[in-house]
Amino acid sequence: MPCQSSEKLNEVVIEAKKFTKYGKVADYIPALKKANPNDLSVAIYQPDGTCISAGDIKKKFTLQSISKVITLALALIDCGEKFVFKKVGYEPTGDPFNSIVKLELNNPSKPLNPMINAGALAVTHMIKGHSIEDRFIRILTFVQELAGNSNVAYSQEVAKSEFESSFLNRSLCYFMKQHGIINEDVEELLDLYTKQCAIEMDCLDLARIGLVFAMNGVEPTTKKRIMPAEVARICKTFMVTCGMYNASGEFAVRVGIPAKSGVSGGIIGAIPHRFGLGIFGPALDEKGNSIAGLKLLEILSTKYSLSMF
Ligand code: GLN
Repeated sequence: MPCQSSEKLNEVVIEAKKFTKYGKVADYIPALKKANPNDLSVAIYQPDGTCISAGDIKKKFTLQSISKVITLALALIDCGEKFVFKKVGYEPTGDPFNSIVKLELNNPSKPLNPMINAGALAVTHMIKGHSIEDRFIRILTFVQELAGNSNVAYSQEVAKSEFESSFLNRSLCYFMKQHGIINEDVEELLDLYTKQCAIEMDCLDLARIGLVFAMNGVEPTTKKRIMPAEVARICKTFMVTCGMYNASGEFAVRVGIPAKSGVSGGIIGAIPHRFGLGIFGPALDEKGNSIAGLKLLEILSTKYSLSMF
């Protein structure tokens, strides 16, 4: 169904867009530098299948860290909660998403949660399949199912750009390999992880994924269950406690919804039983979250009482 552009939503976008000038697009992954910092778009999907949007919602962006929620869901389906959390913890870190420091401080070493890079790499390591290609196809097919769009693909350019420059993620992997958290070839794992992060879509696709999480794993228009309710519940809990990296506490106070951001400027939101939300605004604040995207969510939350708390 086509998404209706909404005047009310557009007013919020115009208001939030003023903040793009205080942010900066990510540049540590060279291919992400090409984004236009002034962009801001949003789509909202409701359980009856209706959708409203504002901004240039045709623009595509890569999932980056948003993919961490999706691979967490798939790893929980593949391996079960007990196995996953033997290798990765439940706790927020208070550190930047790519920090290595807590890996050394915890004994035995274990990434504190699945939303930081170390934890996400450990989770991607758990995705089952006969080969890297096979495991990637499983991730991509799962994303396509969640988005209800079999055309979702990945950006080879962004994947390659990150693969060639992710020295910090390589360090995290080698550290974890030394401590027995992962035991596969690091280059292969990074190949898989960078492709997962480079899966590309627009706000509408992202909002539909948010809706499945919001509806506890069921796509409400087809009534198809895509993941167990328990898996959706665990993922949403991590979105609340760790979804905005080390800005998650402030986000919980100001907005109060399960959400996850990525350095491409995407934010997925899953408002329990109400709607799914997809935002794209590539200008980031210093913690790596979409600066205007956060503002947009704050305005929406205040205006429409979205906070769960
Ligand atoms: N692919 C990115 C990385 O590993 C994802 C980080 C992010 O979106 N915060 O650095």
